[in-house]
Amino acid sequence: MSTSADGPAFANSSLRGAARGVVDHRLARRHLINEYHRGRLRQDQVCDAHPELIRAAKNVGTPSNTTCPICQQAKLKLITYVFGSRLPSQGRCVSTAKEMAALNQRCDDLTAYVVEACVECRWHHLLRILPVGGRRMRRSASG
Ligand SMILES: [Zn+2]
Repeated sequence: MSTSADGPAFANSSLRGAARGVVDHRLARRHLINEYHRGRLRQDQVCDAHPELIRAAKNVGTPSNTTCPICQQAKLKLITYVFGSRLPSQGRCVSTAKEMAALNQRCDDLTAYVVEACVECRWHHLLRILPVGGRRMRRSASG
């Protein structure tokens, strides 16, 4: 039974309410890792990535230079999911820059969730949330 408030699940509903704009989730991530290393969280509590996420990480994940903070056996993979109108409710897994550029051309306000995942131990965490598309919004985004 999970009561985690910040569990990075993939259901759109559990991510709804996140503020638009670039949000940095490194603090939450660090907290979770610290709790694990202090023994307050078990590995199965932090390494519970959905099988679909692990499959995406293996097949289309972008290799990162970051070693998994939990098992330290593998480099983390980055996976990007885009949510928005006319996209699947579980999000569209975007694996190429070309696909992302096409989504970014849309006038709809879309939201990209960049997630890191370890295919060895199934650690996963939301890294950042980025606005995509919605051209009217672009001027207000910096960086
Ligand atoms: Zn790992």
